Amino acid sequence: MNKTITVNKKTVAVGNLIFGGARPIIIAGPCAVESAEQIDQMAARLRQLGVDMLRGGIFKPRTSPYDFQGLGMAGLDYLTAAARRHNLPFITEVMAIEHLEVVAERCDMIQIGARNMYNYPLLKAVGKLNKPVLLKRAFSATLREWRLAAEHIIAAGNRQVVLCERGIRSFDDATRNTLDIAAVPLMQRSTGLPVIVDPSHATGRSDLIDVMSCAAVAAGADGLMIEVHADPANALSDGPQSVKLSDFNDVLAAIRQIAARGGKNGKQ
Ligand code: PEP
Ligand code: MN
Repeated sequence: MNKTITVNKKTVAVGNLIFGGARPIIIAGPCAVESAEQIDQMAARLRQLGVDMLRGGIFKPRTSPYDFQGLGMAGLDYLTAAARRHNLPFITEVMAIEHLEVVAERCDMIQIGARNMYNYPLLKAVGKLNKPVLLKRAFSATLREWRLAAEHIIAAGNRQVVLCERGIRSFDDATRNTLDIAAVPLMQRSTGLPVIVDPSHATGRSDLIDVMSCAAVAAGADGLMIEVHADPANALSDGPQSVKLSDFNDVLAAIRQIAARGGKNGKQ
């Protein structure tokens, strides 16, 4: 094996959950919060399935301004209520500094999306919070740029940073993006930070989520973030990459089998 300089391994706690600990943390939920009922039903089922954390976008960074932009603050109310009722921590994306404080008061982890990895004022602002942050890799960010984006948050005072590989742009359009599995061990070694994988945005295809999740865990990912929807064909965003809720138990079973055999568990 290559001798690589590994910086000290750090863990990030979100309540009782430890990113970088003994097992991969599973985050799941819809791309977007669509209604109070939708997110409540989702939270109830995900809790039964043993998922660790709920996700749901309330501010959606959409390529087209004519697509669904998210429910905004009403969505935050629905998401907070569902998460509390079903006793799940939750993560949601913030795109604007003006929303940071109010969202951080309610959520358990702040998501900085791929499009904002280069938004240095936003990174510095989350750096001033005492709140765990999930920093996604930009579409075409080098590992150095991604590492330095994390440094912006850490240098501003917030050390609670988890990284998320979510696929990069490549020449091939068979998948929405290309999942860079090597980024997982490389970023773990160079930053010491926990690294999770989002197979949903990485592939854009629900039929690849189980295998790509297993590949990520086998490569030592500290967690996964997976989009799930009760009715993907009618989802308001990212339906084609969303695992049908009724199929999600099978996906989780495949992931747990790999986690038990090696990957993260095998390394500890
Ligand atoms: C998301 O997780 O909902 C999202 C928009 O992802 P990304 O920033 O990776 O595109
Ligand atoms: Mn999405």
